[in-house]
Amino acid sequence: RAKDGGGNRYEVADPDSDARAIDRHSLTNHLPGALERDEFFLEYQPLIRMLDGRVDGAEALVRWRHPVHGRLGPDRFIPLAEHTGLIVPLGRWVLEQAVEQAYFWQRGLVEGDSAGAGREPLRVNVNLSPRQLHHPDLVPDTIAVLEAAGVSPESLCLEVTESALIGADEDELKPLRQLAELGVDIALDDFGTGYSNLANLRRLPATTLKLDRSFTQGLQQHPADPLDVTFVGGIVSLAHALGLRVTVEGVETEAQAQQLRELDCDTAQGWYYARPASPESIPAYWSPSD
Ligand code: C2E
Ligand code: MG
Ligand code: MG
Ligand code: MG
Repeated sequence: RAKDGGGNRYEVADPDSDARAIDRHSLTNHLPGALERDEFFLEYQPLIRMLDGRVDGAEALVRWRHPVHGRLGPDRFIPLAEHTGLIVPLGRWVLEQAVEQAYFWQRGLVEGDSAGAGREPLRVNVNLSPRQLHHPDLVPDTIAVLEAAGVSPESLCLEVTESALIGADEDELKPLRQLAELGVDIALDDFGTGYSNLANLRRLPATTLKLDRSFTQGLQQHPADPLDVTFVGGIVSLAHALGLRVTVEGVETEAQAQQLRELDCDTAQGWYYARPASPESIPAYWSPSD
């Protein structure tokens, strides 16, 4: 995004940048030690409640400060980490950091929180990869991390992609179900991009659908594509009928935000509201009256 011109402090990870040219070997060689070298960091993107525009929580998004190639977005290294298994310790590190961050936000212990009052319950969303999902320690690890930080399960939302759950049998869903029973929110990420049967939704322990950015994009035109309006509206009705909340990803314009509010979406996330940025940036989005 450097081409967009100067003043943007919060650069997003851009898969279109030179990063594409980085050869896989360089990443593979550096990845195993990156956690010990403390090269990962998290950015957070606020989730906005459509009803009143307030911040409901924030999604943790991992980045890698690569010793040679500089800042890399997750699309560059998560698949590799998943492949090599590093995702398990990396994912645990992300969870620890994010949950600790939730504690700091909730207690008003973050620099930049001028009100200093803290916000509870303010949630943090953490992405889980398929390998983490199938790891036997997922439930005990998650409980341990929450307890160590003194954060309630209700303050955590785990995001799992729809495709990671396709074909999962009851045994494979059990860990997520246990976490959901403890009060952890479970969101189906990138919803609509997989091929899961809608009827399948009923048996998943999800509390939230995160509608993929591709659907939000269809609402950008004036007038919006009627097919996209119908589709999003239909998904929202179905989700609500099943007792699920709907979050929309990739809201970039006022027009989209307006349209999605009319379609009764619950929560929104996107550049129109805020780009992913440092944890200290989040309190600025809390309204003083919160
Ligand atoms: P995701 O979970 O679907 O996260 C949303 C992605 O959309 C993020 O990309 C975010 O920066 C981007 N985004 C947010 N708003 C907008 C918008 O208005 N327009 C556009 N064009 N993009 C927007 P990011 O940070 O590059 O992350 C990409 C993916 O990497 C994530 O997709 C998630 O699947 C994965 N990921 C990120 N952090 C982690 C992590 O800690 N663990 C695991 N397993 N995966 C992660
Ligand atoms: Mg996500
Ligand atoms: Mg997503
Ligand atoms: Mg996505």
